[in-house]
Amino acid sequence: MSENDQLHTTDEPGRTEGGIPPVRSLRELIDRVTGRSLEAAAPQEDAGFADVVPFPFLALVGQQEMKLALLLAMINPLMGGVLLIGPRGTGKTTAVRSLPELLPQTPRSLCYYGCLPEDIEAGGVDAVCPDCAKKYAGDEPLAVMDQVRLVELPLNALLDDVVGGLDERAALQGHVRLRRGILAQADRNLLYVDEVNLLSDDVVDAILDAAAQGYYLVRRGPMSATYRARFVLVGSMNPEEGRLRPQIMDRFGLRVVVRGLNDRGERLEAYRRARAYLTNPRRVSVEFSDSTALAQEDIQTARDLLSQVEIPDEVSQQGLSLVERLKIDSLRAEITLFEAARAHAVADARLKVTSDDLHAVAPMALRMRRSNFMDDYFTQHGFEEQELADILNDVIPPKKSRKKSGALS
Ligand SMILES: [Zn+2]
Repeated sequence: MSENDQLHTTDEPGRTEGGIPPVRSLRELIDRVTGRSLEAAAPQEDAGFADVVPFPFLALVGQQEMKLALLLAMINPLMGGVLLIGPRGTGKTTAVRSLPELLPQTPRSLCYYGCLPEDIEAGGVDAVCPDCAKKYAGDEPLAVMDQVRLVELPLNALLDDVVGGLDERAALQGHVRLRRGILAQADRNLLYVDEVNLLSDDVVDAILDAAAQGYYLVRRGPMSATYRARFVLVGSMNPEEGRLRPQIMDRFGLRVVVRGLNDRGERLEAYRRARAYLTNPRRVSVEFSDSTALAQEDIQTARDLLSQVEIPDEVSQQGLSLVERLKIDSLRAEITLFEAARAHAVADARLKVTSDDLHAVAPMALRMRRSNFMDDYFTQHGFEEQELADILNDVIPPKKSRKKSGALS
């Protein structure tokens, strides 16, 4: 590279050559050669969301269990989401970022408060902000159909960012209003919580509550508001960086242990695809676009049929036996097991869950639910109960034996 060919770096940042702005980083250069900078230059209505061509989900090599768990979570969001557990560099984030492409379009609110036409259908005009009520009366649209987005929770997020709080913008103008938080923005979208084990407990609790219920309530002084929060939740954690409290761990639906690929052929193929993607993300995306579109249709069909899927009694009995024999206390074990099995059945275009469905999802639904602490606790508790019963019997013998002893004396 000669002196003249060198990339412009810090000096004269505003200088242009023939109208083309200088390149400031390798990333920018990559964007330019792939044509991405043209798009990035267009005004963005919502700068908070990432705009990159994701690595196609279907181009991911191996990691079958992770892929299965994520697909099931997209079919049945109320399953409690997915927790990906593993070291860095195993494709967790890449897989999650590829998910929006697999989801059908969803209505996106045009309003700061996230009002949707369905809020009016459910709760009347009072359920939306005054602006949207006016729009609704004037037959103006409150939302547009848009691609599902991936909302990534920032690592330093505070409870007020997550659930919302008092609206400072409105407060400056003398109004007191609530502002919806990240959870409401994630409604009908995907919420990715990377390094969930590093977040504070109140934040994680709020996220898991909302994920399980599909809505959440915010109370600030005299004001309260309920926001819809129907999202697919994916958490990830690197166990090297800290444990997740068992109570929190229990509240995640499926748990997948993500290890590196151990097949040489797979590793080589993964490298080849990663290189192709880094060279030209759009080309890789286009290459998989037909199969991505088909997968999107399948997921939509599965979602539409999910409510009709049933679990025959003999299959639910098998599920209960599994939970019993594994000595899991939490009822969430059954909920996740059965809901994941229903999603697994409908993904195969069946309306009846079989033992095979149960078999396929059980490891993801049931692993890491046993708590050594609770085991010890109940064992200790059992000893104490026995001792208590023995002493009681000794001091105050049961009526039968009291009568007997009374008769003998
Ligand atoms: Zn509104």
